[in-house]
Amino acid sequence: MKIFVNSFYYPIYTLGPGKRIGLWLQGCSIRCKNCISPHTWLITPKHEIEIEKLAQEINFFPSDKLTISGGEPLDQSQNLIEFLKLVRKNKKDILLYTGYILNEYIQKNGRLWNELKNLVDVIIDGPFIWGKETKYIWKGSENQKMYILNKKLLPIYKQYKNKTKNKKLQIIEYDNNLFLVGIPYQKDYYRIIETIRNM
Ligand code: SF4
Repeated sequence: MKIFVNSFYYPIYTLGPGKRIGLWLQGCSIRCKNCISPHTWLITPKHEIEIEKLAQEINFFPSDKLTISGGEPLDQSQNLIEFLKLVRKNKKDILLYTGYILNEYIQKNGRLWNELKNLVDVIIDGPFIWGKETKYIWKGSENQKMYILNKKLLPIYKQYKNKTKNKKLQIIEYDNNLFLVGIPYQKDYYRIIETIRNM
């Protein structure tokens, strides 16, 4: 089985607590206005990778903390589930971003959710809504919510749930390009893009 991947990187520090692995899946059908990652929307054959190979790469990194974003990971839910089954043993803190509203996704995808809920620990849900600024870290707009599914991780995550400081960004080099990792304030979004363009 294959999965569509944009990129993966270790270490990242700006999408979840601690020193983490970042995995960005490719393909998004939601298409939020002013999405910070439009390069992850379209799927092409070059994004396809065998699930076993990806799991091997992700398991290789010395961290049990994994953040999965995109693109829209739940647009390929079944592939994602099969991938997660291969890394779950080694990854004890899996944070998943989705642009879908979690309750709506659950209502429409009960069978998938029954599997997925045991394979991820924390979910941040909801589309990016331009104009709904948020001060909370790891979120792009006010509507997005954090669900801590794994109660063992409550002591760690609950201190961040309402955290409003340290909305940090990290710059990484991947495949000869520079990428921003993290979610800026909306008010800074265009300033950052312009600064990078003029570098
Ligand atoms: S769901 Fe995420 S990747 Fe898709 S358009 Fe919205 S912000 Fe961008």
